[in-house]
Amino acid sequence: MTASIIDGKEFATRLRARVGAHVARMKADHGVTPGLAVVLVGEDPASEVYVRNKGRQTVEAGMASFEHRLSADTGEAELLALIARLNADPAVHGILVQLPLPAHLNADLVINAIAPEKDVDGFHILNVGRLATGQKAMVPCTPLGCLLMLREQLGSLQGADAVIVGRSNIVGKPMAQLLLGESCTVTVAHSRTRDLPAVCRRADILVAAVGRPRMIPGDWIKPGATVIDVGINRIDAPERGAGKTRLVGDVDFDSAAAVAGAITPVPGGVGPMTIACLLANTVTAAARLHGLREPEGLSA
Ligand code: NDP
Repeated sequence: MTASIIDGKEFATRLRARVGAHVARMKADHGVTPGLAVVLVGEDPASEVYVRNKGRQTVEAGMASFEHRLSADTGEAELLALIARLNADPAVHGILVQLPLPAHLNADLVINAIAPEKDVDGFHILNVGRLATGQKAMVPCTPLGCLLMLREQLGSLQGADAVIVGRSNIVGKPMAQLLLGESCTVTVAHSRTRDLPAVCRRADILVAAVGRPRMIPGDWIKPGATVIDVGINRIDAPERGAGKTRLVGDVDFDSAAAVAGAITPVPGGVGPMTIACLLANTVTAAARLHGLREPEGLSA
């Protein structure tokens, strides 16, 4: 069997178009322009790229983008004061503090200072609790993107055996909550799981969020399973020339695609969905803050 490819790039393009259409309606009908504020502390090159992409795509979707760049030695009080100002700013509907923060800053304290209704990353402790208890929450962008792709691929997920490899707060755990919410039977595997290959072979839906290049080979995959590869790993690619690198996922794509029913590639799978879901969360937050109809199909 050869798996169908779940094209995250194409899906993200359609999602952004839906976000843009909803933004246009909010502006025209209610005079509301959703606004996203991104806070970057320090000069981490990868974070710089993410923040630039977020800003560009926010503007392309017709929303307002506010970027706050602070030096690496910014103190906690100064950062918390900025967050308080953004919490109170009516033009700002979403606030994202780019992680990781420099080591001298307490990330939990900073994230929990964001107004929960503006917490478009879904990392605030109240949103984590709301998601876990089935209440309306802001949902972390990467697992939300995985869920939207799974729904489109499979329709109902009810009763499916879902295995998530990885139990991080930003991917594995919220993914588990979302799939429980869809009435999947959920197993969360991690570095201490016994017989990981056998656990993975049970999965109708396999989500890999580990951070280890091509760790999951095709013979760990149930024939016909849907495979979502969240991993982004940079490896040496001498075949492309001296010193060249390339990105691979946590799943060994070639052997997995020969067994799975559908699979996300890396790059071009989950990655593009993450920023698209950030835009979707910002529109959802703006709608909730203004008591307007929420966009359909953009949230969990
Ligand atoms: P973390 O490092 O926070 O978590 C990794 C998880 O994998 C941990 O739960 C760990 O287990 C588990 N793990 C590590 N080694 C093994 C192993 N040998 N067998 C089984 N489980 C193992 O990573 P993140 O969740 O933040 O990210 C995971 C991957 O997803 C990374 O490649 C990251 O780059 C990517 N990512 C991609 C995004 C996107 O937009 N596409 C967004 C976010 C992340 P334990 O808890 O026991 O240590």
